[in-house]
Amino acid sequence: MGQMMSQPLLVSSIIEHADRHFGDKEIVSRRVEGDIHRYTYRDCHQRARRMANALATLGVKMGDRVATLAWNGYRHMELYYAISGSGAVLHTMNPRLHADQIAYMVDHAEDSYVFFDLTFLGLIETLAASCKSVKGFIAMADRGSMPASFRIPNLMCYEDLIESSSDRYAWPAFDENSASTLCYTSGTTGNPKGVLYSHRSTLLHAYASCLPDALNVSGREVLMPVVPMFHVNAWGFPYSAALTGAKLVLPGPMLDGSSLHDLIVREDVTVSAGVPTVWLGLLNHVERNALEFGKLRRIIIGGSACPPAMMKTFRDKYGVELLHTWGMTEMSPLGTVCTLQSQHLRLTQAEQDQVLEKQGHAIFGVDMKIVDDEGAELPWDGKSCGHLLVRGPWVVRNYFKAEGSSALQDGWFPTGDVATISPEGYMQITDRSKDVIKSGGEWIGSIELENVAMAHPAVQQAACIGVFHPKWDERPLLVVVKKADAALTRDELINSYQGKVAKWWTPDDVVFVDALPVGATGKILKNEIRNQLRHHKLPTA
Ligand code: ADP
Repeated sequence: MGQMMSQPLLVSSIIEHADRHFGDKEIVSRRVEGDIHRYTYRDCHQRARRMANALATLGVKMGDRVATLAWNGYRHMELYYAISGSGAVLHTMNPRLHADQIAYMVDHAEDSYVFFDLTFLGLIETLAASCKSVKGFIAMADRGSMPASFRIPNLMCYEDLIESSSDRYAWPAFDENSASTLCYTSGTTGNPKGVLYSHRSTLLHAYASCLPDALNVSGREVLMPVVPMFHVNAWGFPYSAALTGAKLVLPGPMLDGSSLHDLIVREDVTVSAGVPTVWLGLLNHVERNALEFGKLRRIIIGGSACPPAMMKTFRDKYGVELLHTWGMTEMSPLGTVCTLQSQHLRLTQAEQDQVLEKQGHAIFGVDMKIVDDEGAELPWDGKSCGHLLVRGPWVVRNYFKAEGSSALQDGWFPTGDVATISPEGYMQITDRSKDVIKSGGEWIGSIELENVAMAHPAVQQAACIGVFHPKWDERPLLVVVKKADAALTRDELINSYQGKVAKWWTPDDVVFVDALPVGATGKILKNEIRNQLRHHKLPTA
């Protein structure tokens, strides 16, 4: 056996490190009230210790689940450390899920307390009576903003708890495999499933995410995670920012283009992160008002495929690099990142762009493979397309409370994505397996078809689905939102596919709509579009 110290990897050690080494670095938040709040990592650590004492007074014990319904903000950051650091389990809930699903999660997780931003007061009032395990609800507000609600039993005030608790608190040491955080999947089909991260998995994920060829987080950056702290720990940024001493800018509830742009410029944000729909909104705002992006140099994009056309506009027009990443709730979430290797630097810009469109190479800690329907491994030739499987120390083994079953296939987690892997190890998602279009027994990848549509200057958003065809079973149908005032016909768009995809991949028809349905994590809801257009008759049928 090796002879090094066996210090457990614990979430609390991150905020201790931040306090000691970059105590004066700032955390800036847009509050629910609309104003800007600023303080330091040292202040955050001090208030997290007070909150840890408050939790102990409330009777929260090691392993108890404590839920949050909150935006990205400093109080949520304090809870990240106070709850996990004290040995309890932080259960972040996505407020965009249906109220019934939230009630299901509280019940399933047996949450002991629920912390909430005042935005969600109405939601809590609706839910409170059905939350049998919950001993109290804490409004993340000061005394002056406390609501007079009689429908919420044992309603407490966050700032009262902080004020009445001492900041003398020693973070406990325990097994690094203890649970730190619980996040449920979005549950587009059936009830959400809980993924229970450990202190060890969270720390390893945070370390790995900071690498230069991963998210490249450092103390020289001003980081604004738009990706919510209520879903997959905001891709780990509350940890990686504190680990490196990056200044943190938390945008609160205002995620429209104008509010984000205001924060980017005002706070000198250099790196931001979120799903593609957010950046489309921001880009529109900047284009419409002839603005610039200030010091912003990099946007980390994931959750859905990044349209190459948007990548190009950001880079060529504004000098902002879009970094494509892929992952999922079950992977904490980071799996692959698309950065160039030395051999790519000799390529032309167009050739480099082809690499950068992919979801990227696995970061160390994630092992991946593609298999056919029978589970046989497929070659990494950039052409063979198969089911993507992963394994690693921050990949789920089993869902919360699903003892007796396993989420794995022969030790690998099936992601539900379909992908190719190039000889250099660059993975490209062609589809989610349930979105694949099957035409005459062959697969058509909807993402590639959407990317072609998105490259048309008149297209704002596009989704491609399979609809019934009497001869081919399914054929691709393109559903498109046009840019405001843009003129575009069905034939013009279909003709733009010439030479870009195999002829038989060309969509059979186009439907123009005002908006596409978006789910709880900002992704386009294809199953809803499929439902709406179930009876669409193709002209080729
Ligand atoms: P998250 O909301 O954090 O992305 P989910 O678990 O809700 O996590 O969704 C994960 C799924 O999102 C993946 O399995 C994949 O289908 C899709 N996804 C994530 N990133 C990308 C990407 N860069 N390109 C295409 N699909 C992606």
